[in-house]
Amino acid sequence: MERRRKIAIIGSGIAGLTAAVYAARAGFETELYEQHTIVGGECTGWDRSGYHIDNCIHWMMGSTPGTDLYKIWETVGAVSKDIEIKRCDRMYTSILDGQQLSLWNDVDRTEREMITLSPDDEKEIRSLMKYCRIAKDVAIPANIPSELIGAKEGIKMMITMRSALRIFKHYYGMNVQDLMDKFKHPLIKCLISDFTPSDTQAGSFPMAYGNFISGDGGIPAGGSRAMAFRMKEKFESYSGKVFCGKTVSKVLIEGSKALEIQLDDGTKVTCDYVIPTCDTSVTFGKLLPKTYMEPLMKEMYENRKAYPVYNTFQVAFAAATPIDSIGAETIWNCPELIFTEGMSERITVKSYSYEPDFAPAGKQIIQSLQGGCEDVFEFWTELYKDKELYKKKKLEIAQITMKKIEEQFPEYEGKLSILDIWTPITYTRYCNAYKGFYQSFMISKESAKLPYPSAYIKGLDNVILAGQWISPPGGLPSAAITGKFAVQRICKLENKDYKF
Ligand SMILES: Cc1cc2nc3c(=O)[nH]c(=O)nc-3n(C[C@H](O)[C@H](O)[C@H](O)COP(=O)(O)OP(=O)(O)OC[C@H]3O[C@@H](n4cnc5c(N)ncnc54)[C@H](O)[C@@H]3O)c2cc1C
Repeated sequence: MERRRKIAIIGSGIAGLTAAVYAARAGFETELYEQHTIVGGECTGWDRSGYHIDNCIHWMMGSTPGTDLYKIWETVGAVSKDIEIKRCDRMYTSILDGQQLSLWNDVDRTEREMITLSPDDEKEIRSLMKYCRIAKDVAIPANIPSELIGAKEGIKMMITMRSALRIFKHYYGMNVQDLMDKFKHPLIKCLISDFTPSDTQAGSFPMAYGNFISGDGGIPAGGSRAMAFRMKEKFESYSGKVFCGKTVSKVLIEGSKALEIQLDDGTKVTCDYVIPTCDTSVTFGKLLPKTYMEPLMKEMYENRKAYPVYNTFQVAFAAATPIDSIGAETIWNCPELIFTEGMSERITVKSYSYEPDFAPAGKQIIQSLQGGCEDVFEFWTELYKDKELYKKKKLEIAQITMKKIEEQFPEYEGKLSILDIWTPITYTRYCNAYKGFYQSFMISKESAKLPYPSAYIKGLDNVILAGQWISPPGGLPSAAITGKFAVQRICKLENKDYKF
């Protein structure tokens, strides 16, 4: 009998898990290697003192049936008709100087409330909401990689991309700051920049809110870790093999072929193809010589202004009350929390009352998240050299955070306690994340005109990249789509006629 062709996948985040399910379904002998003790990568969660901390999904594109992306989520076991999709009545609420504004799932209500708040901005509000409504119809192309597209698929893709192209055309060359500058009211400016930093692409705001008002952007029941575990189960149901706690240290090459991957313990695994899904900063420099990195990707790592990355300081609190005073996500100013240069003064607090099982009966869990620019990573790296100092600083900031939450929501006063605190260092320790960032390079005005990096590596015939770092600015859809595309690319190289 002919030997089955073997694919070794490095990293079991959403990209690795997706590639794994598709590869195993397509008949490849498939092995998934993960350095951490569990699968999921950034899409994970953990338990503390009877509470569950959900690390990832705030909203997931493609959680509603009817798109190519939904088909991927369904195929890999992330969603199914039996898994409830949790939805919030608003994307988030922004507060400034005692006034508040929400991005409701009812766009007419949002528009009305914005105009009531700032009649002088009516023209710009109507324009922004018009593009958000257009974005309701945008579906990310997730069927086939662009270089494998035939004429018929190409036409279909152009049709589905029509709405997206209208939005990109309208916001071309603009960043979030330019969009904010169109408005007079400080709270509207704030609401816009609360979604994504001011130096990133303006079009991402209408795209995201448009997706939310379309009824998509839900959260699969059980949250992030449960979703990753379902994907692992799906993979194993096709006889795929998962190896957790196994760090890949090298891809061994001969000529233009990768022959084996080598693990930290010295074990060598022979394979026909390799799909690295870890951060590209690990793939190039650790697993493969850096010389294999294509010039565009090099530029991304070197031109820090054009391709910024960010990070966050996060705290989980147990709340000894079942009453949810936050309602989804609320964001407000806390200048007292600027503990180093580059920290944002905006703090986001999210309630998880939509998942009662995340907390003991009669209680709930809430989490805070505060963003910072990439230099903040250096601050934490320096502190981490002295673990006691690192712990002390984390606790000090978490205690101020708790006080600020109690001030903003007096109903929680005396009812909060700290469950866990994590920093950008946490993402680097557990996921090998570049500068502690859990997404990919953000797109700025300067980089918006450039293409994405390639999934192929010049000089290596059987290594195909996947993962969010080849599809900036990352996120779960990027991870899943690149994972599926990697297997489609391998099938093409193998002349394997498999229906995806
Ligand atoms: C707080 C937070 C909120 C988020 N919210 C959302 C959201 O609401 N919606 C959304 O779409 N996205 C969100 N994201 C982003 C999303 O989680 C990521 O974009 C996505 O999970 C990335 O998947 P990936 O597979 O590309 O990478 P990763 O998850 O980083 O997976 C890479 C894997 O490779 C492993 N690895 C690294 N090096 C090695 C090695 N040498 N050997 C073996 N294994 C290795 C890592 O341990 C990791 O498991 C959020 C993330 C966080 C942390």
